[in-house]
Amino acid sequence: MKVLVYSTRPYDRAALEQANNGVHNLEFVESGLDARTARLAEGFDAVCLFVNDIASAPILHELNTLGVRLIVQRATGYNNIDLDALATTRMTAMRVGYYSPFAVAEHAVALLQTLNRKTHRAYNRTREHNFLLDGLVGSDLNGKTVGIVGTGKIGYVFARIMHGFGCRLLAYDSAENPKCIELGIRYVPLAQLAAESDVISLHLPLFPTTVHLVNAELLALMKPGVMLINTSRGKLIDTNALVEALKADRIGGVGLDVYEVEENLFFRDLSQRTVLDDLFVRLASFSNVLITAHQAFLTHEALSQIATTTIHNLTDFAAGRNNENVIKG
Ligand code: NAD
Repeated sequence: MKVLVYSTRPYDRAALEQANNGVHNLEFVESGLDARTARLAEGFDAVCLFVNDIASAPILHELNTLGVRLIVQRATGYNNIDLDALATTRMTAMRVGYYSPFAVAEHAVALLQTLNRKTHRAYNRTREHNFLLDGLVGSDLNGKTVGIVGTGKIGYVFARIMHGFGCRLLAYDSAENPKCIELGIRYVPLAQLAAESDVISLHLPLFPTTVHLVNAELLALMKPGVMLINTSRGKLIDTNALVEALKADRIGGVGLDVYEVEENLFFRDLSQRTVLDDLFVRLASFSNVLITAHQAFLTHEALSQIATTTIHNLTDFAAGRNNENVIKG
């Protein structure tokens, strides 16, 4: 198949070319998919997208008119694709239903422990030969209560790691995971999880029903000093409400790999420009907020699995085979 790969970074290209091994005709562009760049897909059978490519109704209709038949999303989440609009076209969308959940869960732990033990601040101090420990006091995780919101593939791996730290585990999910119950996790209502947890980590998808799941009301229920980690999707948190809670000194630490309006920021070098998103700049200014730019998936293992599954999806579609990665509305 002739495939246009949008939002290409060098690590995407290397992994996709290796997995493809010349089978499909892949062309790579750095630009993301948007109203300006959709027309680049003319003459292609498929487009390959990443999380911030915009597959809104008008763009999907344009791709359809240009003759594109398949969208392959090289990610698990697909909230960037308007599925109602997709259903009115002749196109199919496929995703990577499974890849290393360890990559994301381990990154959530990295954010948590960096914030908790303040290693980001210690790193800077020792480089400046400041060997004072003042202000670097952390907490044992052993014995603390960890609330896991979403106990699917990634939430379960995160739960196992926290179990290894000796934490008490609470969870909230619309479907209980038997493997989590085996670990000794107790499922509780979200409000109870918020009120009892020392650490809260989000591992559920962004749906219309989960937008701003963490809002002012839920933040007000949380224990003073709570550590909040989000490696899922930015819009799960009402960022304005989070900033207010941080200003009121009610939050111990916030570790984010995703941000509510990251589309305008992440995956590009803006270091020579002025960032105009005041909310982001305020959020990043707190010393107890640690932000990474959507890199939780970025391990060699995950990149290789994402690429292999993406090529497999293209091959199955070309052969008229449906597989479990077809996205259903
Ligand atoms: P999963 O489908 O295995 O698990 C999601 C869990 O959320 C399920 O147990 C499901 O029952 C639960 N859930 C869904 N809707 C819910 C609701 N309304 N209320 C309560 N629970 C609900 O997904 P996963 O593989 O564990 O991935 C979780 C999310 O992580 C993805 O959707 C994606 O947004 C994010 N993610 C981020 C990165 C990154 O690089 N930062 C990489 C991969 C995935």
